[in-house]
Amino acid sequence: MNLHEYQGKEILSSFGVRIQRGIVAQNASEAVTAAKQLTNETGTSWHVIKAQVHAGGRGKGGGVKLAKNLQEVEELAGQIIGMNLVTPQTSAEGKKVHQVLVAEDVYYPGESEIEEYYMSVLLNRGTGRNMIMYSTEGGMDIETVAEETPHLIFTEEIDPSVGLLPFQARRVAFNLGLSGMAFKEMTKFVMALYTAYVESDSSLFEINPVLKTSDNKILAVDAKVTIDDNALYRHKDYINLRDLREENPIEVEAKEVGLNYVDLDGNVGCMVNGAGLAMATMDLIKQAGGEPANFLDVGGTADAARVEQAFKIILKDPAVKAILINIFGGIVRCDRVAQGVIDAYKNMGNIEVPIIVRLQGTNADIAKELIDNSGLAVLSATEFQEAADKVQEVFS
Ligand code: GDP
Ligand code: MN
Repeated sequence: MNLHEYQGKEILSSFGVRIQRGIVAQNASEAVTAAKQLTNETGTSWHVIKAQVHAGGRGKGGGVKLAKNLQEVEELAGQIIGMNLVTPQTSAEGKKVHQVLVAEDVYYPGESEIEEYYMSVLLNRGTGRNMIMYSTEGGMDIETVAEETPHLIFTEEIDPSVGLLPFQARRVAFNLGLSGMAFKEMTKFVMALYTAYVESDSSLFEINPVLKTSDNKILAVDAKVTIDDNALYRHKDYINLRDLREENPIEVEAKEVGLNYVDLDGNVGCMVNGAGLAMATMDLIKQAGGEPANFLDVGGTADAARVEQAFKIILKDPAVKAILINIFGGIVRCDRVAQGVIDAYKNMGNIEVPIIVRLQGTNADIAKELIDNSGLAVLSATEFQEAADKVQEVFS
């Protein structure tokens, strides 16, 4: 589950990580109230108005602006809320901004004494260990840093049996070139950040930039936080942080009916039981010259109702030009799946794209007969390659 910057910062702060403080606002007048409150609490007179959408690079797209007085707060919040923010990480249409974070300006008094760093915490899948990745080159695209100046990216791997040790946090501060008070602050920041990552069951923290202020405080100016969905049952208080407006509507609907669906860019819809077979099916489609439109695992119970739900979900994507159903009948019998496909097809009545069904396993022969005799525009196949060839035929 991805979070907004303001939500991520709240979690960081709850574990003692110092953050750029802010208050979220839904409209321009709320933004002004928020700015006044921040001035009372922090003494800041300048504010940063930050679009809250699930995409990075907001600054580049005009979604992060500095306001030097309350009138500018009102104007900028009014401009940013409701805009379609286009950033290097969104589609060309951009993302609609529903709310802004009104934050204290922490770049005072001038550019000369401040430093921006990059820091993330994530799992190194190669070693199976968490690591802290960090760089002196903050505030810019880490991908660019990795490409052009890879020697400026450092990593610190964490042994899960002992956790992050203080000497490692000191090494981070040292590699970032810090000394004195800023060094101590960075050590504290890194220790707290790692605790927050572990305790919140996150799978990614990306703080870009981490800021050293002119008075040597270290704080998180931005926060991209991803919580591991599989651990959400342990964090009931995080569940309402989900913002469905930011998610793919078809994926949200699929989730509601318990289908494992991921939207992709291609034009061949897939309906498969089992994640492994679904992956193999996507490979097969690619090999046959097609592009999968989705990943869809219908799970164990591929009955008529389920197949119909899956059809409906797949067909919501206007790019779908053919559907490949690839089901292995182990516990579920192929003839029941075939009947399910036929019933769903008839029920829906308006399926205009060709459908290729490959059923293999228990009662596969009966299933093929059912499909072939159904009188519907459904092509049957029993072999994997045969199914792929039929997908290709549809497009040629
Ligand atoms: P992103 O563009 O989506 O990564 O959003 P960030 O939260 O990282 O903000 C983008 C940029 O806005 C930062 O890299 C800073 O240069 C700038 N910025 C953020 N906070 C402040 C602030 O308090 N004062 C000033 N002057 N600039 C800020
Ligand atoms: Mn950023």
